[in-house]
Amino acid sequence: MAKVPEVGTSAWRREGGDDDHFCPGCGTRQQLVARYPWYFCADCLKLAEDHQGRRLVFQSPAPLGGMSWRYADAPERAVECAAVVCLIRNREVIVREARFGGFVAEPYNAPLRGHNIVRLSRAEQSRENRTTTAGPKPVPGTRR
Ligand SMILES: [Zn+2]
Repeated sequence: MAKVPEVGTSAWRREGGDDDHFCPGCGTRQQLVARYPWYFCADCLKLAEDHQGRRLVFQSPAPLGGMSWRYADAPERAVECAAVVCLIRNREVIVREARFGGFVAEPYNAPLRGHNIVRLSRAEQSRENRTTTAGPKPVPGTRR
């Protein structure tokens, strides 16, 4: 499995600044990252879970990036996605691939538009209601 740089590691410190940031999950002092002003620390990211308290793991399916998620207790079933809405310390968060590699969790405030966003923070899946209108289909060849 490819080792992914985690939030707070050297790759992140390049943007450097003097301002402090405190993890919204546990309050630990973190490096401020302008792009992710509310990010959770790496320790909190490890606590990501679904609405049933099932631990989640995020990983890159390819060396060049991308994102997939899986349950910690089901290593063989990783699902590719663009982002995952889940829970950290009972807060609803969105986990995405970070710009510098690894993954970043931020508070989920506004519904995100986009494809392939998996929502695990609630019981119901966020699949669109695809009510296929089961009307009579036009029969080909009847028109002259
Ligand atoms: Zn934290």
